Amino acid sequence: MFCPRCGKQSFIEDSFKSFKCSVCSFRIFMNAGAAVIAIIRNDKGEVLFTTRKHAPFAGMLDFPGGFVDYEENAEKALRREIKEELNLQIYDIKYLLSIPNIYEFEGIVYHTLDLVFACKVKDFETIQTDDDVSGFKFIPIDKVSIDDIGLRSAKEIVKILKTTID
Ligand SMILES: [Zn+2]
Repeated sequence: MFCPRCGKQSFIEDSFKSFKCSVCSFRIFMNAGAAVIAIIRNDKGEVLFTTRKHAPFAGMLDFPGGFVDYEENAEKALRREIKEELNLQIYDIKYLLSIPNIYEFEGIVYHTLDLVFACKVKDFETIQTDDDVSGFKFIPIDKVSIDDIGLRSAKEIVKILKTTID
């Protein structure tokens, strides 16, 4: 590969998570990108799912959420994403767990670390889909089919929620 700094064809894999140039020593480390996921329930305890508008897994079910921007904390990213996707304001954000995920977009595989939060919504009246979401559904967790879920981490979360009594 060509080195992005010196342009020589000397850019090689240095470890499973880094590339190094053997000429100018330029090195790139590859780390997981941070993403946030919201578990939101209505009064009946049903879980809020979105329908993905775009690839990967367009048309399949997902949880609301998205990527964390530079200089943004996870809670702020979660508030922003839920506002953008569903026009909802969340509160009482509680961290639950994290799951490594793979996100393939336009032929490139991105590794993410998905941070999962439970949060509440005071008023669902304002709900309206936008951004990368084409629809939403409240589903009792025992009625959700894993096959309808697109992303690997979302499937994992559904499995965990199905076995968690709360
Ligand atoms: Zn170089």
